[in-house]
Amino acid sequence: NDARKLQLEITRYGKDEALLIVRDITRLHNLEQMRRDFVANVSHELRTPLTVIAGYLETLESSGQAPKPWQRPLQQMLEQTGRMTSLVNDLLLLARLETSERDSGRERVAVGELMERVAREARGLSGGRHNITVACSDDALLTGDANELHSAFANLALNAVKYSPNGGDITLSWTLDSRGGHFSVRDSGIGIDPIHIPRLTERFYRVDAGRSRESGGTGLGLAIVKHVLLRHSGELSVDSRPGRGSTFALHFPPHKLTSAAEN
Ligand code: ADP
Repeated sequence: NDARKLQLEITRYGKDEALLIVRDITRLHNLEQMRRDFVANVSHELRTPLTVIAGYLETLESSGQAPKPWQRPLQQMLEQTGRMTSLVNDLLLLARLETSERDSGRERVAVGELMERVAREARGLSGGRHNITVACSDDALLTGDANELHSAFANLALNAVKYSPNGGDITLSWTLDSRGGHFSVRDSGIGIDPIHIPRLTERFYRVDAGRSRESGGTGLGLAIVKHVLLRHSGELSVDSRPGRGSTFALHFPPHKLTSAAEN
């Protein structure tokens, strides 16, 4: 019956013997699907009321008619509505990414342009408080989904800004070698203790929840990065030292790359 989901596990014992375990994971699979659909539906339904609330709050604020004692609460309501909108958008994106772990789009994305765009966004968030540079010397094109790749690249660059003190250096680089293409973001920020590194891509995992919230984090950024990579045959690596800074890198295999000159 092809509607059932089976998981096979083979363990070899010496030359002639092997143990085959067949697990029926249909129920687990269906439950997982229900969880994803539920999250996607709730996130989707929350978007409309949030847009309406944010719209009214913005109108009230820009009208300048709000009584003085309301101005601070109004600011806070706007800020919190913005946070909730980011959270809902990230949840929706993650639910969509999770429904299919393979086969991203077939667009050809110019890596250099994508990096310049992401650097502009990072500079916007930084407001001139960090020194952000881009190093990309080739004309590589990455095959995949342009929006998803943008999310992955941008999450790393925005995290570098969020977790670096003012005056910090942030470098976005791209290198090509026989193993593929490598995008990395190096910062001179707060760094991460090694014990946290294996868990960073879990949903809502934060090293310091207070700091993350303060900087506008949803706790979903690296989970999104992980799922984008799963759909692009990519891998994430993290190299970090507390107090010294971090390097987050995305590695893409050669079959995902072409050069603009070949096109
Ligand atoms: P958040 O929205 O909280 O930033 P992420 O999933 O993007 O969530 O990151 C998970 C956690 O990893 C963050 O809360 C932060 O503690 C840590 N982190 C991510 N990037 C960096 C970085 N460049 N430097 C230091 N810590 C980082």
